[in-house]
Amino acid sequence: MSETIYDLFVIGAGSGGVRAARMSASFGAKVAIAESRYLGGTCVNVGCVPKKLFSYAAHYREDFSDAQGFGWDSSVSDLDWPRLRDNKTKEIERLNGIYGNLLNNAGADLINGHARIVDANTVEVDGNKYTAKNILIAVGGWPFIPDIPGCELAISSNELFYLDTLPKHAVVVGGGYIATEFAGILHGLGVEVEQIYRRDLFLRGFDTEIREQLAEEMTNKGVKLRFNENVTAIAEQDGQYLLTLESGESLLTDKVLYATGRKPLLEGLGLENTKVTLNDKGYIAVNEGFQTAEPSIYAVGDVTGGMELTPVALAEGMNLAKRLFKGDNTVLDYSFIPTAIFSQPNLATVGFSEEEARERFADIAVYTSRFTHLKHTLSGNKTKTFLKLVVDKASDKVVGAHMMGDDAGEIIQGLAVAIKAGATKADFDSTIGIHPTVAEEFVTMRDATR
Ligand code: NDP
Repeated sequence: MSETIYDLFVIGAGSGGVRAARMSASFGAKVAIAESRYLGGTCVNVGCVPKKLFSYAAHYREDFSDAQGFGWDSSVSDLDWPRLRDNKTKEIERLNGIYGNLLNNAGADLINGHARIVDANTVEVDGNKYTAKNILIAVGGWPFIPDIPGCELAISSNELFYLDTLPKHAVVVGGGYIATEFAGILHGLGVEVEQIYRRDLFLRGFDTEIREQLAEEMTNKGVKLRFNENVTAIAEQDGQYLLTLESGESLLTDKVLYATGRKPLLEGLGLENTKVTLNDKGYIAVNEGFQTAEPSIYAVGDVTGGMELTPVALAEGMNLAKRLFKGDNTVLDYSFIPTAIFSQPNLATVGFSEEEARERFADIAVYTSRFTHLKHTLSGNKTKTFLKLVVDKASDKVVGAHMMGDDAGEIIQGLAVAIKAGATKADFDSTIGIHPTVAEEFVTMRDATR
């Protein structure tokens, strides 16, 4: 029997890899995809999906309390953590199965095992060698924990999804997406939480005002935020962990979660056997067509160090499949990518922060609105909703929309379409609102606050 020569061999069955494999196969390419861990990658297994399920779970505590103002007498009992964790795991396993079926139905060969590149057209998995015209690296990233004394005692978000028991008290280190989401989730699940971040305000890169608003709300809800602080050492002490802090203080806790960024998962990939190069941050360097310095090898998703977001990896996987097997060389447009942080309350954003817009445009107008959600007039919940629009005065285009509040991601996703299409403030103003909603505030902002 003659050896199969694959048109595309994909390494990593996460968001980007699966999308590229499925689409390529549907375009008629002969595709193999190798995965050593779990189908669906970080997003499905230890990221977006289980995180969002936990985020819903965490919100119930506040919902039970809010219900009282509406006449419902509900009492909040302690969370049955094993039930939540195991129900979540069952759902993830169901999704793993769906991913397997999607690949099978598309006609891609799924190979279980760790793939190592042997040369520009050969991949080895568990001693078997496969020949491919094109190889795609879509291996994603892995949590990074800084090398401090006792760092092995800390857990990452990977382990948090499978804890045997919930701690009474937890310290979350980091000020990015994962740290801020988990500080809120753990707090909502009934854990006493302290979030430690090394600079003066978390979520660096987002609009400053929205970061301040979120810090205020999280503090009001009971999360202890310690900014301008860091952990220098971790030690075990009578079944707990003693943290030594940069300020000289120490802190005793039951669990230490590090969410201090992620690194590309390059170990054992065999890059030394290729001409593939890394950029200055250690990610795989690619051109706008996702091609590495080795012409037959491509890379998409987190391993390339762009915006580490599932929809971006999906778009890249799709774009590559069309390039390779449809002759479509459209360059992917990365402008106005909306994003949400499933913190409590949620935060979402599209376009430029006020600070970025001030640097980029000659003159801008900023519209803000901070108010109490109609629901909270009866619930008594003190959480505020905050909305912000940033407008380029010269073109009247809305160049940034930011929101903190319930379902911020759902609302900003809709606005992202308008903003990407170039909607002006006049377009927003001439759009009739849906009453009574939070989202209607975005089309009734009349007076620029600055
Ligand atoms: P981020 O890059 O968002 O944040 C890392 C945080 O850790 C930053 O606050 C950083 O501080 C801090 N940090 C880095 N190194 C150290 C160190 N040595 N000591 C102390 N603090 C440190 O990474 P995450 O791990 O939160 O998430 C990874 C990526 O996954 C995100 O960038 C995002 O793209 C994606 N993601 C998306 C989600 C969503 O869409 N909702 C949810 C979760 C993750 P500093 O600001 O000073 O650099």
